[in-house]
Amino acid sequence: MDQQIIDLMFKVKGLDIIEHCPHCESYVAPTLIDSDNFYDETNHQSLETYILKCSRFNCGRYYMVDAWLDTDFDGKYYAVEAIKYPNNMSNYIDKDIEKVSSSFIEIYNESITAENAKLLKICGCGYRKAIEFLIKDYIIYSNRQDENFDEEKIKSSVKIMNLINTYFNDNPIKLVAEKIFWLGNDETHYQRKWKNKDISDMRSLIEILLYKIKMELSYEKYTTEMNPQNKDA
Ligand SMILES: [Zn+2]
Repeated sequence: MDQQIIDLMFKVKGLDIIEHCPHCESYVAPTLIDSDNFYDETNHQSLETYILKCSRFNCGRYYMVDAWLDTDFDGKYYAVEAIKYPNNMSNYIDKDIEKVSSSFIEIYNESITAENAKLLKICGCGYRKAIEFLIKDYIIYSNRQDENFDEEKIKSSVKIMNLINTYFNDNPIKLVAEKIFWLGNDETHYQRKWKNKDISDMRSLIEILLYKIKMELSYEKYTTEMNPQNKDA
């Protein structure tokens, strides 16, 4: 590892973010090309900026990290907040989920764009809205062959928790959907209930739910396609 990086990691705690290259999405031992610092008189905080170069032969691109520093009780620096540039999460694309809910994909990607732009208050509400669409559309999709199923009732329902409890039989899906919805409500309502959970927890839970739904869709596909009654003669 670059000696300057070793010195920097020794000097400032909590800078693990610099070991991840945003271009090739790999964990790397970067080279520190340059750094600069600035003292914010108003907030009494120092900001350090690091220009880094990815160490992978096939990448080797540059990126930048801004870190707001503070000192702990024994005078050591630690990063209160560190932001990496470029920091863009890419848009979500999935053909199977698109079939179930194109609205989810659209709202989810708009929320990712808001998060990339650091509009954190807005993207939380966006993720909640995206989940509401995904849950309703998934219920409609999985009951599409039931003649007695009332699609309009699902679309107009405002009680999402009731829908989750009524229509989700698979326990892990139900538990994950419930938790996303709790966090989603936190993003929308004035007072937070889940103080130590944030947007990244919400996104992780959404990823788990998407994974579970994709598994259900594959299961449905193969049980239909490989039904012994449909077997080729
Ligand atoms: Zn790289």
